Amino acid sequence: MPTNRNAAIEMNKEDFRQMGYKLIDSIAEFINGIEQKPVTTGETPEQIQNILGTSSLPEHGTSGAALLERATELMMNHSLLNGHPKFMGYITSSAAPIGALADLLAATVNPNVGANILSPMATAIEKQTVRWLAEFIGVSPSYGGVLVSGGNMANFTAFLAARTAKAPKNLKADGLAKAGAELVLYCPKTTHTWIEKAAVLFGHGMNAIRWIATDENNKMNNDLLIETIEADLQNGKKPFLVVGTAGDVSTGVVDDLKGIAAICKKYDLWFHIDGAYGIPAAVIPEQKELFAGIEDADSIALDPHKWLYSPLEAGCTLVKDPNHLIDTYSSHPVYYNFGNNDEPLMQNFYEYGLQNSRGFRALKVWIMLQQVGRSGYIKMIDEDIQLSKLFFELADKHPELEAVTQNLSITTLRYVPLNFENYSAATETYLNKLNEALLNDLQQGGEVFLSNAVIGNKYCLRGCIVNFRTSEKDIEEIIEIVVKEGRKIQTKMKNEEPSMQL
Ligand SMILES: *Cc1c(COP(=O)(O)O)cnc(C)c1O
Repeated sequence: MPTNRNAAIEMNKEDFRQMGYKLIDSIAEFINGIEQKPVTTGETPEQIQNILGTSSLPEHGTSGAALLERATELMMNHSLLNGHPKFMGYITSSAAPIGALADLLAATVNPNVGANILSPMATAIEKQTVRWLAEFIGVSPSYGGVLVSGGNMANFTAFLAARTAKAPKNLKADGLAKAGAELVLYCPKTTHTWIEKAAVLFGHGMNAIRWIATDENNKMNNDLLIETIEADLQNGKKPFLVVGTAGDVSTGVVDDLKGIAAICKKYDLWFHIDGAYGIPAAVIPEQKELFAGIEDADSIALDPHKWLYSPLEAGCTLVKDPNHLIDTYSSHPVYYNFGNNDEPLMQNFYEYGLQNSRGFRALKVWIMLQQVGRSGYIKMIDEDIQLSKLFFELADKHPELEAVTQNLSITTLRYVPLNFENYSAATETYLNKLNEALLNDLQQGGEVFLSNAVIGNKYCLRGCIVNFRTSEKDIEEIIEIVVKEGRKIQTKMKNEEPSMQL
């Protein structure tokens, strides 16, 4: 047996310092220069693979310093940079620099935040983070919960708690097949795709989802919700869950949450809010009214890695009565000596969700919340909203752009050639094709990164600003870029489709 392991993976203090300092210097330069880089290099998967190479698993080790240097080059020069001020695609924020340092610290101490005894300080910090997130959005700090990897997991975690709480009591022992009645759930048709994954994965099937149509404001039509629940009850189904959205992923609309809360109360249903994107905006006093009703939610999903600007990954499930999480997820195998739940402050996070061993993703969120405080967040989130409004206004004023929607920090718009109404074959199909081609062009070009939304029958460009680096100047320049590229595509398409002549 070795007396001194001299393990290949160990690192001495001096090597760690040197590699670490070098990496930190590169990161500092990267963050400082991010604006000068393209948002994306637009390289194809083939080009990327060629740069990476296809060598097989190395037999012998390589110098850590060289590997870090290569990884730095690969990542910094061949990535899409969602921290770039002109990135506003999907819902991915610029990442708080302090979050990177927090992740380094978390990985270094490496607490396993599954059990209190394995992570005494980390568990306390995660509990405090969860409480602060509840305070942040303005629900009672007595909501409990758990940090997870993102919005999907936050919604899943709540979905299963809802089912345990509202399903027949034999569900845990006997499973869905013997539940007595088909369990059904309700959500607006704007709900994010997580709901389909949940219905499939958790054994309900897609047909258990009642997609409720939206009203003229694109909010769930609550009258239709009531009608659908009534019809299901008449047909012997067992409704258990209604999902409301606080900031839908395409256009940022917030449902009438107060109305949904009242319906859930009347029919004894679990009220879940998917606030993965939008709910942090509830911190802004002027937006409070839009979110009225969140304090009645049985559970809420939110994503610190979206509008709280945390580096990936960080999601959070908040539950009004956290005992529902324990009811759902707890088990006590003989090989765990994790202490006694009667100790009031003892909290073992493995009992709060699907994970067992858990990393310390709370640290970065805990640090960020203090680095800027409530007032700092109010300012950043409000500025994102103001910039989104500016984007809409500038598009609205421009003769070649049509501004379509604006809610929270999401703007949708499309390019419409001048005098388009006079074109011989002026069809929506043509505009849709044009805007889809335009989006593809923009996404490869590296000047700006937008995504898309389909609104009614319109294929739109969509900008979602959860980016503390975006400024007024960026918005003005993005308008110019969209128009410049729109004209190019239009010229190209017109030549390809002579029927589109004036
Ligand atoms: C982003 C989003 C999700 C999914 O969250 P991930 O973090 O990507 O898993 C779910 N719902 C809404 C409303 C979202 O905006």
